[in-house]
Amino acid sequence: MEENTTVVQPLPGVKGFVSRRHKMLIGGEFVEAASGKTFPTYNPATGEVLAQVPEGDKEDIDRAVKAARGAFEGRWRKYTPSDRGKSIWKLADLLEQHADEFAQIESLDNGKPVAVARVADVPLAIDLLRYMAGWATKIEGNTIPLSVPGGGYLAYTLREPVGVAGQIIPWNFPLLMAAWKLGPALAAGCAVVLKVAEQTPLSALRLAELIQEAGFPAGAVNIVTGFGETAGAALAAHPAVDKVAFTGSTEVGRLIVHAAAGNLKKVSLELGGKSPNVVFKDADLDVAIPGAANAIFFNHGQCCCAGSRLYVEKGVFDKVVEGVADQGRQIKLGPGMDLSTQMGPLVSSEQLDRVCGYLQSGRQEGARAIIGGQRVGERGYFVAPTVLTDVKPDMKIYQEEIFGPVVTAIPFSDPGEVQAAANDTIYGLAAGIWTRDIGKAHSLAEQLRAGTVWINCYNVFDAALPFGGYKQSGWGREMGHEVLENYTETKSVCVRIK
Ligand code: ADP
Repeated sequence: MEENTTVVQPLPGVKGFVSRRHKMLIGGEFVEAASGKTFPTYNPATGEVLAQVPEGDKEDIDRAVKAARGAFEGRWRKYTPSDRGKSIWKLADLLEQHADEFAQIESLDNGKPVAVARVADVPLAIDLLRYMAGWATKIEGNTIPLSVPGGGYLAYTLREPVGVAGQIIPWNFPLLMAAWKLGPALAAGCAVVLKVAEQTPLSALRLAELIQEAGFPAGAVNIVTGFGETAGAALAAHPAVDKVAFTGSTEVGRLIVHAAAGNLKKVSLELGGKSPNVVFKDADLDVAIPGAANAIFFNHGQCCCAGSRLYVEKGVFDKVVEGVADQGRQIKLGPGMDLSTQMGPLVSSEQLDRVCGYLQSGRQEGARAIIGGQRVGERGYFVAPTVLTDVKPDMKIYQEEIFGPVVTAIPFSDPGEVQAAANDTIYGLAAGIWTRDIGKAHSLAEQLRAGTVWINCYNVFDAALPFGGYKQSGWGREMGHEVLENYTETKSVCVRIK
């Protein structure tokens, strides 16, 4: 990419942090992998090695689980709900103080534009932590009126932490996913072992330093870097882990369920998607067109909820498709650390190959690229924003999650037809509807089998709004008070009082 004065230099703290010899957080200490091994993380804008991090594996996971168990049964257990809330809030404050630094680390490691990380990833993580800090003092049971003949009983429920939670997160929003996982688990009083994605370990390792500063006791939070097949698999299968929470591909989600079966640990999953985004003729197209472009191009399409199947009512199909293509044409590709960049590289060479493989398959099966359809440049993992038409339901690009900036556009004639087509997927994470007709909007929202339906908007996230999937998009919900279900057990207590 050409030299540009809008390129930001890493802050001194970021430079120092990135180039340091990285260590994992286990039992309140920063440690190397037991094996002494490390592995590289790459700068996706250049393909160059950015840093070396410890290659944690089964033994490290075991150490971390023991530390978590110790904290859960020891000092962490003694924290009052208010103490827990204060520690989480303190972590949010620290994150806020270092927001610029985190945005840069995220951009360097993941490839996303630093300006986007600064206004989306980092503040959303802070907000989620604060929201969950508030819940720590509000996790309550109920009193239950019993119908036992003759009466004489007092019954109530307690909501208790599920225990040691293993959490496995992906690379698309590394810091935000860490916050989504840590916030509710810690609010509920669980101790955590977090296994971060091998492609993007750095922001969580920096977060680990803030966790130490925030006043959590040793072992309450452990952060392990390593690969999925080793460290991740060991965590999912560990007999002393009470619960595993996973965000990632549906394929790996299935492996997690199998691995968890050994001790029947509780499982929550946030998996893939192939989300429909439906534009009706009567929509405000000035809003719907940029909205549909944002639905697929935000974070380079590397969102599990990406609006990757764009259904457009006949009559406005050409206008909408051309409009979305035009938005795509205007997107400036470049390194994340360039402030003028609107779309960075994909996260890794594997992702680049995967997305390019889908583009090739689309071409071979007869889809037509209105824009894009190929890699950009030779250096880094850049893919052009792509709009595909002439798409048939049996094509791979229509059925499978691409996880790149690639949208398939399909015309439809009436609401019944689009409802059936939108639901014709193994996934059910999210959906979008664009119309001025509120009756039509709510009626379709009710019929769509998806965990989130956005009407006349897309990609709106809030710590209070539950997020998760129907069908093969997952089990359970993240965020909102619903996520606390993932990290608590309900205990019924029944007392004879007469
Ligand atoms: P992607 O294919 O997009 O990289 P994955 O679902 O493979 O997404 O990865 C999400 C997370 O799951 C990462 O932290 C990864 O290391 C982890 N992971 C991958 N394979 C396994 C596995 N077999 N068991 C447990 N965790 C895994």
